[in-house]
Amino acid sequence: MDYRVLLFYKYVTIDDPETFAAEHLQFCKDNDLKGRILVSSEGINGTVSGPKEVTDNYIAHMRADTRFSDIVFKIDEAEGHAFKKMHVRPRNEIVALDLEDDVNPKELTGKYLSPTEFRDALQSDDTVVIDARNDYEYDLGHFRGAIRPNITRFRDLPDWIKENKEQFMDKKIVTYCTGGIRCEKFSGWLLKEGFEDVSQLKDGIATYGKDPETKGEFWDGKMYVFDERISVEINQVDKTVVGKEWFDGTPCERYINCSNPECNRQILVSEENEERYLGACSHECAAHERNRYVQKHDISEEEKAKRLENFKDLVNQ
Ligand SMILES: [Zn+2]
Repeated sequence: MDYRVLLFYKYVTIDDPETFAAEHLQFCKDNDLKGRILVSSEGINGTVSGPKEVTDNYIAHMRADTRFSDIVFKIDEAEGHAFKKMHVRPRNEIVALDLEDDVNPKELTGKYLSPTEFRDALQSDDTVVIDARNDYEYDLGHFRGAIRPNITRFRDLPDWIKENKEQFMDKKIVTYCTGGIRCEKFSGWLLKEGFEDVSQLKDGIATYGKDPETKGEFWDGKMYVFDERISVEINQVDKTVVGKEWFDGTPCERYINCSNPECNRQILVSEENEERYLGACSHECAAHERNRYVQKHDISEEEKAKRLENFKDLVNQ
């Protein structure tokens, strides 16, 4: 475990994001870091990986800049890089919510809850806990009893909330996400929408899982991460599996992308069923002429036809 993965963000004014991004990319490349960083006039949002001395150096470099002197780094140990390349990209927003009337979290955001305060809120009857992440992230793991918005992109969350408003209108609302960044804007938006009592888990699930008091308690399953690790452990108290295998519903924490390059849907699939169903989410995707699983494993037309038959058994179950 000589490598580290750093997760970080900060809403802070960056005057010239384009120049900042170019210079920051050069610094990261010069230092053997890999990862993905978004920069905008509203701040910075990133994940990087590297050998421990390199990530230590990066932390020191960032904190030497007065804009980032108090930035929080969530640090995971790792066996190697969690990315193949290094990107630093200028963007309009550091997390895309695409609001017509944008929210500035520096001016409007929900109350911050520490891990222990959040744990108390989880157990409170008059509080609704909303997962601010995507459905495929929720399906791999989530806080016990949390609400699962039916969305695949963060920018669809406000509409989902509007459509389901009656469920939460008179309740205290608590939101959470991976590292805290999505909740900064989302909780501010909730306040703007008229929800009165809105809180957010400060620094996200990542911090809650490492907190010496909470030790990730009441988290079920694993936490989805947007790098090559795909998932990490959170609950150190009573670990469970909540992920369900796409085809047979058995406990499963193994995500693959559907082998149809035009679908790419993320599905939880066992090794056995990946082979059986050609790494695809449906018969249509499995039959696709550019099926990646078929190409990678050099599967003959005859064999492909045979495995496509397996989908018939599914329907008949
Ligand atoms: Zn598919």
